[in-house]
Amino acid sequence: MTTLGLDPEELGRCVQCGLCLPSCPTFRVTGDESQSPRGRIALMRAVEHEGAPLSAPVRRSFETCVQCRGCETACPSGVPFGHLMARTREVIVQSGLSTSRPVRAGYAALGRPRLVRAAVRAAALGQRLHAVPASAGLPPLPLRQAPLRRTGSDAHLFTGCVMDACQRDVHRDTVRVLAAAGFGVEPTGDRVPCCGALHAHAGLGRAARKLAAGAVRALGDGLPVLVNSAGCGAAMKEYGRLLGSDAARELAGRVFDVSEWLAPRMANLPEVRPLDLRVAVQDPCHLRHVQRVHAATRAVLAPFVRELLELDDDGLCCGAGGSYAFFERREARAIRARKLASIARSAPDVVASANPGCSMHLAAAGVPAVHPMTLVARALGAQGGARGAQGAQGRLGS
Ligand code: SF4
Ligand code: SF4
Repeated sequence: MTTLGLDPEELGRCVQCGLCLPSCPTFRVTGDESQSPRGRIALMRAVEHEGAPLSAPVRRSFETCVQCRGCETACPSGVPFGHLMARTREVIVQSGLSTSRPVRAGYAALGRPRLVRAAVRAAALGQRLHAVPASAGLPPLPLRQAPLRRTGSDAHLFTGCVMDACQRDVHRDTVRVLAAAGFGVEPTGDRVPCCGALHAHAGLGRAARKLAAGAVRALGDGLPVLVNSAGCGAAMKEYGRLLGSDAARELAGRVFDVSEWLAPRMANLPEVRPLDLRVAVQDPCHLRHVQRVHAATRAVLAPFVRELLELDDDGLCCGAGGSYAFFERREARAIRARKLASIARSAPDVVASANPGCSMHLAAAGVPAVHPMTLVARALGAQGGARGAQGAQGRLGS
């Protein structure tokens, strides 16, 4: 008999009211109770309290959860669903019931930045040679990326694994925006290879804790840690719970999403002519439901674009979910289809997304998704200096 080792008080908070159901992307696309937060909690209780086996259908219910945590925001009883699910996934992996050896090797590679960059370069080359099928669902990947340089010591800029390999240009834009606001940053680079968020989602708790402990050691100097990936920022803000140490809690307390950091400092940025763009804001779930700082994205973007548009889908997940779009392709695409329809209804020039997973998942479906920092950098004319905002508008709008 397997027990999940869940906190009985946390598990007991669910009163099965169902108020979370409309906020759950998997329930919205399937209408299946076993793919809803309430259904998943009922299954956790059945395993924990009644000795129900972790059978294939039970595991499937857990595996199809995007871990978007939209249910947490909707829940009036304060059920910490994300933590319950993370622990459940970890027990499934520990029981040898999920995550094959090649998949584990893939996750292990995330802690080795050179390997990640080499893999992304190989995939980028494959795309140029038309050897990577469109069905792989990958957005256009960069062949070459210039190194990111230190600009000062006001804060760390967390660069991460997949994002640094795929979207270093976003880090560069972030550095430029921060510089325009008067802040110099120290990119974390290979010193902190990965935050462990993807590992925690996949149930690889030991690997997640090891990476988190490495980050705590490397970033112990008391400086703010700015993060431009919503998923990484959310994971780092929860290091206290993950590691249970004072040092982890101390680090977590000085992690900020870059827009969260900039919003109260907007007066530092120069006034410029806004980009002539209608921008739809896509809230990454881990910014909206975990960090709960998505308002800052709008505060930072508003002065720099002609118009901000709100999507009409109640902030539902886009289906990216860390590595979810990779391993649960059918479900991820069904969830994304709802987001695409909402984007089409608002008819923006571009979509702003502060998470690499979301933007790549949307870009793979042809959406012109860009990071908010990229838009601000381009409005400031910081992208390529003389190219300026007008040139940027042309590229984004094309
Ligand atoms: S998780 Fe919260 S909102 Fe959902 S059924 Fe349980 S108590 Fe209700
Ligand atoms: S985390 Fe997201 S996908 Fe999972 S049950 Fe909650 S709302 Fe549904």
